[in-house]
Amino acid sequence: MSLLSVENLNIYYGNIHAVKGVTLTVNEGEVVCLIGANGAGKTTTLQAISGLLPIKNGMVNFEGKDITKIKSHEITNMGIAQVPEGRRIFSNLSVEDNLEMGAYKVDGTKEEEEAHMERIYGLFPVLRERKKQKAGTLSGGEQQMLSMGRALMTRPKLLLLDEPSMGLSPLFVDKIFETIEILKAEGRTILLVEQNANLALKVSDRGYVLETGKVVKEGLSADLRDDPSVKSAYLGA
Ligand code: ATP
Repeated sequence: MSLLSVENLNIYYGNIHAVKGVTLTVNEGEVVCLIGANGAGKTTTLQAISGLLPIKNGMVNFEGKDITKIKSHEITNMGIAQVPEGRRIFSNLSVEDNLEMGAYKVDGTKEEEEAHMERIYGLFPVLRERKKQKAGTLSGGEQQMLSMGRALMTRPKLLLLDEPSMGLSPLFVDKIFETIEILKAEGRTILLVEQNANLALKVSDRGYVLETGKVVKEGLSADLRDDPSVKSAYLGA
């Protein structure tokens, strides 16, 4: 059974039919990517999964439960954490306080929370160095790490990453993708939305290609990377 399954998802913004019958699955321990051009419906799909947008028709199942009509905070409590496009950290709070905001959703002792925070600092040492610093003073790349760290503090069963490389310098893009590799090696389950199809297809097991709200191609990432139409449209070949 898949951890996440989305069936025939349809999302509208008023009269605009942004997502048209998207069907996808994510199995436990997999990294799955969703690639496509600007406006293809990638972010919309993620937001629908995490309960931030109403689903006109279609179904989202998580761990065998229908979550189509469930509110976003309950979906977070069930184990889906989204790292939104544009990070959305709390600029006026310290790095440490931002991470603690992620932990409040989780039952556990103070010691467990601290141990968990240590793991996040192990993943992103720069966050430890800057833990007392206001989050708004971090660079874009560091803010992306913080946003990922905060999501991981909720101990999600499924991590949704929305364009983690957007607006970052090449150095930070590499760092973010290295982190995704580490999370994958730890056996975490990730649904990754990316415009950088090259990197997304390198780090993932499987992928879906979205065009104007529809899945036009799906398969193993290694096969998609060799697919001539994917190459010419998305891989700059
Ligand atoms: P991007 O990388 O630019 O975010 P995307 O693939 O994530 O692209 P979406 O942001 O999901 O695409 O947008 C899908 C379609 O829905 C686009 O045509 C977009 O213009 C439209 N859309 C997105 N958000 C809204 C909104 N709040 N109101 C109206 N239309 C919207």
